[in-house]
Amino acid sequence: MPASPIDIYELLTRELGSRRVLRDEERLEAYSHDESGLGRFPPAAAVLCESAAEVSLVLRLAREHRVPVTPRGTGTGMTGGALAVQGGIVLSTERMNQVLAIDEQDLLAVVEPGVITGVLQEQVEAVGLFYPPDPASLESCSLGGNVAENAGGPRAFKYGVTRRYTLGLELALMGGERLRCGRRTVKGVTGYDVVATVVGSEGTLAVATEITLRLLPQPPAVQTMLAAMPDVVSAGVAVTSILRAGEPPRALEIIDGVTVDHLRRKESPYRFPAGAGAVVLCELDGHPESLEAAMLRAAAACAAAGAVDVFVAKDESERRAIWQTRRNASPALKELHRSKTAEDIVVPLGRIPEMLGRIAAISARHGITIGTFGHAGDGNLHVNLVHDEDEADPAVRARVQAAIDDLFRATLALGGTLSGEHGIGLAKRDHVAWEQTPELIGFQQRLKRVFDPDGLLNPGKKIPQ
Ligand SMILES: Cc1cc2nc3c(=O)[nH]c(=O)nc-3n(C[C@H](O)[C@H](O)[C@H](O)COP(=O)(O)OP(=O)(O)OC[C@H]3O[C@@H](n4cnc5c(N)ncnc54)[C@H](O)[C@@H]3O)c2cc1C
Repeated sequence: MPASPIDIYELLTRELGSRRVLRDEERLEAYSHDESGLGRFPPAAAVLCESAAEVSLVLRLAREHRVPVTPRGTGTGMTGGALAVQGGIVLSTERMNQVLAIDEQDLLAVVEPGVITGVLQEQVEAVGLFYPPDPASLESCSLGGNVAENAGGPRAFKYGVTRRYTLGLELALMGGERLRCGRRTVKGVTGYDVVATVVGSEGTLAVATEITLRLLPQPPAVQTMLAAMPDVVSAGVAVTSILRAGEPPRALEIIDGVTVDHLRRKESPYRFPAGAGAVVLCELDGHPESLEAAMLRAAAACAAAGAVDVFVAKDESERRAIWQTRRNASPALKELHRSKTAEDIVVPLGRIPEMLGRIAAISARHGITIGTFGHAGDGNLHVNLVHDEDEADPAVRARVQAAIDDLFRATLALGGTLSGEHGIGLAKRDHVAWEQTPELIGFQQRLKRVFDPDGLLNPGKKIPQ
């Protein structure tokens, strides 16, 4: 006979101490929300684990007591993955923040899941190495969260997303079992690819307690170009021509006029040229000799698409200023409005200009301002619906939801997908059925039960129930 739910919190407090098993409303506040804007979901407790053994203990007791557990990194998720929608325990890995090894011979790093992405990047760059995935949130998100969301970023265009760099994982399953999967080698096909299955599973299959990441040598040179375009349609055309120009950029980004206007209103290290109705940001890396010619080809493509200004960063500080300004895009749209809903759609490369046109039509049809920016080289657009009306007003909510539904319909009609990197979480769970067949959803529900037979790990997320 299982003990009453309250007993598990007493047991955990006895094992880990009250400073790491948070129960009071005030301290739980920080663990009640994330960056999705979906609201507050206070758990019964937040448990701050410091080791894989502690994670395993929490998962063992939680299964014995039938208490749901929601894993959490640093809560920067945009789709509600870290929200405790069924209460229970939020299992925080923020204190598991050690870089355990940087192996310069084998070109890999072994980290705990709570390490901040930017911290690992700085450490590997200090020894001439390179960890490519660069979510715009890299100064605050955790590598465990990146693995769970299969995070991307601007450099994913050339280098790929987190899955490509995740060689091995140590996992804790619901019930407390611990598994090591993957390897320390770049290649390897022994057994099924459990690592690839868990990466991107949004904390619904297992908790990552240790991560082995592939590193690359640092590219010898980097150049960044910013083209001020008259409007977003010409920016879309410039992106398509750069893609065909030969040398693949490591990042190819687009920022629409609405977002440019918001960035102009926020304190940012880089000021966009006057006349920029949209911006194309193109970054190349490689050997200095080949870079010059490739950059000229990219600049020519922008000029042919009608660029009003083309600017190449002359040094590292100008390059950083441009990227910091790009990273401010999402915060600028959020800070300047009462409400922001961020979507993260992907369309096939040839459909970007058409998608941009459809977004403009959706904005006009529903009377909602939409700022679009993102990784155009991947066809991955961050579509941000902003307004200053009362979010609690059902009519306002219905209008926003209708615009989102239209956005998803347009994306799928063009052969796209609902999320490129922010995940499905709670926000888009029910829309998965718009993209995937009942058979495929049923198969994934069975897969979930293999990892988590009682449905207690991050319930209510990722796939329709
Ligand atoms: C301003 C801003 C910009 C962003 N830009 C990008 C971007 O460019 N690219 C991008 O991909 N994302 C971006 N994001 C989204 C977010 O930062 C990423 O999804 C990130 O990977 C989440 O990491 P986190 O540590 O905050 O995870 P959390 O929000 O805490 O959790 C996210 C999910 O991961 C699960 N999880 C966390 N840790 C573990 C673990 N150890 N084991 C198993 N599951 C776990 C949680 O259960 C949850 O489902 C951005 C967010 C913001 C706010």
